[in-house]
Amino acid sequence: MEKPKRNENQSLNPEIPQPIRKNGEGFIDKGPRDVMRDMENPDMLVPPITDAGLVANLRFSFSDTHMQLNYGGWSREITVRELPIAKTLAGVNMSLTPGGVRELHWHQQAEWSYMIWGRARISAVNQNGRNFLADVGPGDLWYFPPGVPHSIQGLEGGCEFLLVFDDGSFSDLNTLSISDWFAHTPKDVLSANFGVPESAFASIPSQQVYIYQDTVPGSLASQEVASPQGTVPLSFKYELLAQPPVKTSGGSVRIVDSTNFPISKTVAAALVEIEPGGMRELHWHPNNDEWQYYLTGQGRMTVFAGNGAARTFDYRAGDVGYVPFAFGHYIQNTGTEPLWFLEMFKADRFEDVSLNQWMALSPQQLVQSNLKVGPELTDALHKTKSPVVKYPPYTYYPK
Ligand code: MN
Ligand code: MN
Repeated sequence: MEKPKRNENQSLNPEIPQPIRKNGEGFIDKGPRDVMRDMENPDMLVPPITDAGLVANLRFSFSDTHMQLNYGGWSREITVRELPIAKTLAGVNMSLTPGGVRELHWHQQAEWSYMIWGRARISAVNQNGRNFLADVGPGDLWYFPPGVPHSIQGLEGGCEFLLVFDDGSFSDLNTLSISDWFAHTPKDVLSANFGVPESAFASIPSQQVYIYQDTVPGSLASQEVASPQGTVPLSFKYELLAQPPVKTSGGSVRIVDSTNFPISKTVAAALVEIEPGGMRELHWHPNNDEWQYYLTGQGRMTVFAGNGAARTFDYRAGDVGYVPFAFGHYIQNTGTEPLWFLEMFKADRFEDVSLNQWMALSPQQLVQSNLKVGPELTDALHKTKSPVVKYPPYTYYPK
């Protein structure tokens, strides 16, 4: 058998990155290797010299997941099976054709969603017989509480969205569907329950439908059903992009949690924009793990895990990132386009701790002696103008 051939000359091509630091550490990689992936991951191929220790994988790309293809759309998911450290939240990326339906279903987990492009009609009925019907477009959110049955249908042009569930072991392929229940209920029972002859069920699906193709529905008004109990008291929809952003030096942020989207009691989120050259400041979160979804651009995140451990990952559109509870981290835009991402938490409130804020509000002599730094740093803490994405409520930095 012939020996597999390697490209012995690739090390001569300056376009091909090599695992060699500027200080000479490392050596050329003659392969086997995936050069395209190495080019996408410069900070994994040549990690910052400050990276060290054992930090679990904190990235997974939707491009590396199984695609569920149906007439009417597709879905793919990142759960603990794909990203084992991500125990608090799971994500599903779904697209529906014009008229394509994610069928009537429910699940044990809450569903928080962000519309990426296009429009959809969402429906739900709560435990008190109060119903909900709305159209959602780009930048809109929806939240269905656990156990509340619902559906999603693509409107003209179709749509794509991100679904986030408050349990890392959730799978969208393992929900409770109306077609599945009908298929597994004797027809005489269906007949007795609904008071119609068994023949009414002659054509029901024999198994879970999941996603199917239907026609684009008419106007919202044409589909509304008047419930004697009225509509849901807290809207399941929130227009996140319509919320004025908090502008910072280096980017912008829109925070959404149960304070401004009251139904969203188990998922808090921030939609973050980092300009080229900008950075989401060094910080951590005092309430839970962080689950990220990258929408546009390119960036890198370094996570500090304590005990000398830190690791850097490169992210791009379609990637999921993760930060374990309280681990320090920062995110840099490494590209030439704005970097947009969602950071999400299984929590009722968005909370973070800013390293700058902590240091600025601690005894300055303590900060200086602890870090062996002078007033140059501590004075700067009170008049920061660096390209750092800062979040409220840290508005008391002197201007
Ligand atoms: Mn659902
Ligand atoms: Mn964070």
